[in-house]
Amino acid sequence: MIARHYTLSCLACGRAMQEDGAVLSCAEPHNPGFLGAEYQERSLRPDPAAQGLFRYHRWLPINRILPGPGQAVSYRSERLGRAIGLDQLWVLFNGYWPERGATLDTATFKELEAWTVLARRLAEDARTLVVASAGNTAAAFARACSRTLTPCLIVVPEAAMATLEFPEPLQPCVRIIALGEGADYSDAIAMAEWIAHLPGYVREGGVKNVARRAGLGTTLLTAVEAIGRMPDYYFQAVGSGAGAIGVHESAERLVSDGRYGNRLPRLMLSQNQPFTPLVEAWRTGSPTLVPMDPAEGKRRIGEIRAKVLSSREPPFAIRGGVFDVLTASAGDMFGADNRATDCARTLFEETEGIDIDPAPAVALATLQECAASGRIPRDAVVALNVSGGGRERRRQEWTLHPAQPALRVGAAMERDELLDRVAAL
Ligand SMILES: [Zn+2]
Repeated sequence: MIARHYTLSCLACGRAMQEDGAVLSCAEPHNPGFLGAEYQERSLRPDPAAQGLFRYHRWLPINRILPGPGQAVSYRSERLGRAIGLDQLWVLFNGYWPERGATLDTATFKELEAWTVLARRLAEDARTLVVASAGNTAAAFARACSRTLTPCLIVVPEAAMATLEFPEPLQPCVRIIALGEGADYSDAIAMAEWIAHLPGYVREGGVKNVARRAGLGTTLLTAVEAIGRMPDYYFQAVGSGAGAIGVHESAERLVSDGRYGNRLPRLMLSQNQPFTPLVEAWRTGSPTLVPMDPAEGKRRIGEIRAKVLSSREPPFAIRGGVFDVLTASAGDMFGADNRATDCARTLFEETEGIDIDPAPAVALATLQECAASGRIPRDAVVALNVSGGGRERRRQEWTLHPAQPALRVGAAMERDELLDRVAAL
């Protein structure tokens, strides 16, 4: 067995796991739980010689370092902070804004997860990675897999195709399946599950992949390097909540480190009304999702501005999931409607001088509300995760190449027919 700088264990039963670069869960018959990573290195020690997020390789569950990742940037915002009445507002800018040093060229924080997941895989693993996405994750994996020549198959709702455009054409190792007829993210997840059982394929696993959460969690590491301490509050818009869970896991490590304070940042998470399954579940006070009819869920998803926040089955109740991290961090959940989202988006662009996606505008709208109502003190150290930005900026700079799906299928396609069509690709 290879010596590694980390070990994996099941957060539900504590059992140690054999790492193969892709394992997602423990086989014991108990309630579902994530796998957690434990690192030999107990302090945050970025490696100045490594590129992008691989600076944090000592705290990432990875087996190799890949060339090519970009990086996020954290900075103190004065103009936006002043506009909403906060003295210490820090923007964690996960997007494309080269003048500031943010170089995620698909313009969202999903790039942090894609590169980490790929770096976790063993070099000799030749299986095709199967990824389901509502849009941003697809873009991030398509770009990272294309640059590292990793075979992958990405399943997205047809509506997401418009966001899949890249500075260079994708390599043929990247294949995309577009689901039409009103399919959404949850439909993409279901079809990706079927495909991943074919021989030669392996599922990426979404929030269950320990590398995905760790990669997203590096946004907090970048933040504490800039701030010099842990933020008191952390604002982010969530679909499945993978980013927030990853940030919480990073925060626990930073508390153990001890140099950045001993209080976990309070997770202030948000969704876009009227599609707010996590807000509704959190309001009940118990770790169960409120059942929603799929047709009603899709109708509401059709109305929201931030389409990426559209997971109908987010990991709320699972051990280590959204309920647990909100409880442990004394956090809360909020909703913002389209109107407030649009206003927040304009405010950010006017004060900071760069465009942002609708999802971070949802987070900003709830932050404005919390600041205005006195819910958070004026002098609190507040981190706002701008989980996507600079999309327009990159359009001005580059000629972008739209991706073409290798296959277009209806959402109602039967399993066997789909698998036959995939096998024929
Ligand atoms: Zn277990």
